[in-house]
Amino acid sequence: MDIFPISLKLQQQPCLIVGGGHIAYRKAVLLHKAGALIHVIAPDIDANLLQLVEESQGQYIQALYPAQIQLNDYRLVIAATDDYAVNTQVFEDCEALKILVNSVDDPPHCRFMVPAIVDRSPLVISVASNGTSPVLSRQIRTQLETSIPHGMGKLAEFSGKWRAAVKAKISNPDERRVFWEDLYASPLKEQVFHDNLTEADSLIEQALAEWKTPKGEVYLVGAGPGDPELLTLKALRLMQQADVVIYDRLVSPAIMELCRRDATKIYVGKARSNHAVPQEGINALLVEYASKGQRVCRLKGGDPFIFGRGGEEIQELFAAGVPFQVVPGITAASGCSAYAGIPLTHRDYAQSVRFLTGHLKEGSPELPWDELVYQNQTLVLYMGLVGLEKICEKLIEHGQRPDMPVALISKGTTLEQKVLVGTLADIASKVEENHIQAPTLTIIGDVVSLREQLQWQD
Ligand code: SAH
Repeated sequence: MDIFPISLKLQQQPCLIVGGGHIAYRKAVLLHKAGALIHVIAPDIDANLLQLVEESQGQYIQALYPAQIQLNDYRLVIAATDDYAVNTQVFEDCEALKILVNSVDDPPHCRFMVPAIVDRSPLVISVASNGTSPVLSRQIRTQLETSIPHGMGKLAEFSGKWRAAVKAKISNPDERRVFWEDLYASPLKEQVFHDNLTEADSLIEQALAEWKTPKGEVYLVGAGPGDPELLTLKALRLMQQADVVIYDRLVSPAIMELCRRDATKIYVGKARSNHAVPQEGINALLVEYASKGQRVCRLKGGDPFIFGRGGEEIQELFAAGVPFQVVPGITAASGCSAYAGIPLTHRDYAQSVRFLTGHLKEGSPELPWDELVYQNQTLVLYMGLVGLEKICEKLIEHGQRPDMPVALISKGTTLEQKVLVGTLADIASKVEENHIQAPTLTIIGDVVSLREQLQWQD
């Protein structure tokens, strides 16, 4: 992050604008809204700007910068002339004195930038791009404008009024957050939006009177195969409300970004031969945090019930009496097949589909081979890269066609997705020739041939 966003309180604070034209006026409007005392230095001044200066009880200095100006007198300075040299001079003078300075539309000469804002005072949302794209910031602002109800400002004001009372009643900050979150999810919000403040006051009084320390809980959440847009709405909601997130190697950084920012995040990822935290350790962590009253999000790649040991984890929670909920995710088979253009079933090619683990036990996969060589069946192999050669050999040995198509999908649904297509006879050697990155999923079946027509992603 190249900038540090802050919100400045400028009521009654002297701020200087250098320049008296239209650009200066635009900046003055915002400063005026924030209650600043607007001082302007310029040889001439726009009539509207002069009015703002007078309304704000600031001062107009009719002169060329830097005449008579003591920069130290101002909280911040905006250089808004149409003369690059003057703006640069203002910037350099302010820098020397360490005064916050903005040179309009000239990012290299800005110590602070003015973001695009959505004003729901006292709630103010700002969007900044570090001077790279004001247009993009404004577009995002417009999106926010349309999605954030105007009542949000009232809700913020209402919350401010009750903040001290809530703090007095609920001293633990984590608990307080839960209180507010529950409240914002309750009918109170609508009452405030509709200005029914008496009703809202009695709702919050009642909620405070009935408040009990919440019990911890575990959310076992499937995060999907990689693309963050494949998260479910429920997954996202729980990720954003959990106090602790315990996550695996398969959960991408882009998805972790969507978790609550101040949640404790614990990595328990497992690479194939390198168990970062053993399963018993993970189970113990879940129980430990939930028992302390925390809301724990156990975030797993794909779907937690498909080769995800989700069942084992919640058995442990059940035994320990910890409440839990399970949120399914898009499993790798669905995600990868969709993004590779390979339908898992198709009336002409496959009437059934089987998910298998290619995980090796003592160096050899243990699978019901005779059932895997049926025609019109798609096989999806999880965790099978190491055993792939053996698996292909075994399938051929048990009667499958050597030219049965096979697709290997690496990092499916992510921007780095790669798909390698071959047959049972040659896919293993193709894998050796190509550098394939984990995780990989293998699809075996005639449906793979449809990719030629249906691939839409690569
Ligand atoms: N619960 C997960 C699977 C966990 S097992 C799910 O439902 O998807 C881990 C295996 O899943 C990996 O070895 C790989 O075979 C597969 N996998 C998960 N995400 C993948 C992805 N984005 N691309 C390819 N394979 C993936």
